[in-house]
Amino acid sequence: MTKIPHRLYLTEDQMPKQWYNLRADMKELPDPMLNPADFRPVKEEDLYPIFCKELAHQEMDNETRYVDIPEEIQDFYKMYRPSPLIRAYNLEKALDTPARIYYKFEGNNTSGSHKLNSAIAQAYYAKKQGLTSLTTETGAGQWGTALAEACSYYGIPLTVYMVKCSYEQKPFRKAVIQTFDGEIIPSPSTTTNAGRAILEKGPHTTGSLGCAISEAVEKAVTTEGCRYVLGSVLNQVLLHQSIIGLESKTAMELLDEYPDIVIGCAGGGSNLGGLIAPFMQDKLTGKASPRIVAVEPASCPSLTRGRYAYDFCDTGKVTPLARMYTLGCGFIPSANHAGGLRYHGMSPILSKLYHDGYMEAVAVEQTKVFEAAVFFAKQETILPAPESSHAIRAAIDEAVKCRETGEAKTILFGLTGTGYFDMNAYSSYLDGTMKDYIPTDEDLEKAFAELPKIPGIQ
Ligand SMILES: *Cc1c(COP(=O)(O)O)cnc(C)c1O
Repeated sequence: MTKIPHRLYLTEDQMPKQWYNLRADMKELPDPMLNPADFRPVKEEDLYPIFCKELAHQEMDNETRYVDIPEEIQDFYKMYRPSPLIRAYNLEKALDTPARIYYKFEGNNTSGSHKLNSAIAQAYYAKKQGLTSLTTETGAGQWGTALAEACSYYGIPLTVYMVKCSYEQKPFRKAVIQTFDGEIIPSPSTTTNAGRAILEKGPHTTGSLGCAISEAVEKAVTTEGCRYVLGSVLNQVLLHQSIIGLESKTAMELLDEYPDIVIGCAGGGSNLGGLIAPFMQDKLTGKASPRIVAVEPASCPSLTRGRYAYDFCDTGKVTPLARMYTLGCGFIPSANHAGGLRYHGMSPILSKLYHDGYMEAVAVEQTKVFEAAVFFAKQETILPAPESSHAIRAAIDEAVKCRETGEAKTILFGLTGTGYFDMNAYSSYLDGTMKDYIPTDEDLEKAFAELPKIPGIQ
């Protein structure tokens, strides 16, 4: 008998009834979004043509610390939550480390990731407002799947712009999205002005999240009763994803544990922002000081090599400007990068916290990520998503350091999803054809040169 169980599930009573808004406890807030036409701060009403009203409100609300989770959303969560907090006993043994390793596994739903946590909230508010359709983009496909599930639950028609290289590499993702009645268009496409312009510049482009966002936003603002929803980066998404951290913290308290290190992979920052939220709160309010580590791909290193600057959130330059760590909205990561996390920017909340020294970041190469993924799968029996495996890599590296120093640290990491739709990437790792790609400083300078010029600011 071990004292701490392998898996801990909260009871329904113990599940969070409110999301936590990290901004309410930040010493300094992220800089406001700016309108690219006149560089004035964006107001809540300015967002109404793009986002549904309640979500526009959540986006701009820097004050409300706890936001009630509507009962309908709580009921939906109960279909696949709580997610388990798992003690990685076998991984610890295999690494011969004194560290105690925990992970929060978010892959137990059809989207295969944490994305459903925000998708259902966004579909709920859209339905409540009486909207008649939604659009979005998807990169690897998890967000498109999650949103298709949520939209079909509420009977809302959905159009998904899917990054072209993923569309071609992941036929089964398409089929799942279609199972939930989502319409899919490979991006860039000829169905929007933004897509046509991008295709004219580069007819053979493999697409990027930034392109797909431009197309989805254009479709939303030109279609009656339609709004755009986004699965990461935004403040509202981090708010919804705080469920991950709140559950984790309660579960750890039940085990009489507290993490010394919290680790998450970072694409646009939503799972990381959600996982760390209550631990960052402790840090901001002086209650505890866990190390918080963002892990990003070396091929798309927005925190470790990007600029902290105002930039567009999309390639087509139709969105407001956000101040964030960015590689430049024209940055398109190498097509041979299979590991997800391809977004050029980073959540403004996380960018600010990183800039102010509350978090660390590391960049890892994809072959090292897959090495960790395969090792983890064999120890823990879960085949991880490539994205999640970035966090596994860093957690293993920290646990190995503990072996060397003899320190029995408590490590918590986010295992955001399963890798079943990423078997092409696994195959390329296993047959040795996977290559690492690291952009040169020159590549990055080229994209930085395109950052918007803002009088008096940058
Ligand atoms: C989308 C996704 C990510 C990255 O997105 P974040 O917003 O940075 O969390 C990570 N893991 C999985 C499984 C995903 O689907």
